[in-house]
Amino acid sequence: MTERTFSIIKPDATRRNLTGKVNAVIEDAGLRIVAQRRIRMTEDQAKKFYEVHAARPFYGELVEFMTSAPVVVQVLEGENAVARYREVMGATNPADAAEGTIRKLYAESVGENSVHGSDSAENAAIEIAQFFTDDQIVG
Ligand code: ADP
Ligand code: MG
Repeated sequence: MTERTFSIIKPDATRRNLTGKVNAVIEDAGLRIVAQRRIRMTEDQAKKFYEVHAARPFYGELVEFMTSAPVVVQVLEGENAVARYREVMGATNPADAAEGTIRKLYAESVGENSVHGSDSAENAAIEIAQFFTDDQIVG
């Protein structure tokens, strides 16, 4: 089943000029980048995006991190894209991430872990709609 997921290349990665290297891993995994924009996330956008983690101790630090430098927001399309991209990203903590995954290759810590990917098709649709209109996605 072809589906779409939402991805963010996070500030630790854009700061180190790794956008192209992350995109190469994404494309080599068979996922297609069907929308992409580099933005500076506002505090309001970051707070809303990570609302589900509002009660977690790292929430403030996470919002601060996500607004600390540009990010690249993306829509990825492919076979089982949500689950596939979670595999390609690797575990949240790079210490636990499998070889060849983006987080194993590039993440700096459990917080500054280079990429975001939606955890369900339902959340993917919500997250995509926060940053893209339908006409900005060209599959
Ligand atoms: P994932 O991004 O793998 O879906 P979560 O949804 O659990 O992970 O967490 C969202 C983001 O919050 C993580 O990607 C990471 O940037 C940050 N985060 C998660 N756990 C921690 C932690 N223990 N300390 C600091 N930041 C964290
Ligand atoms: Mg998550």
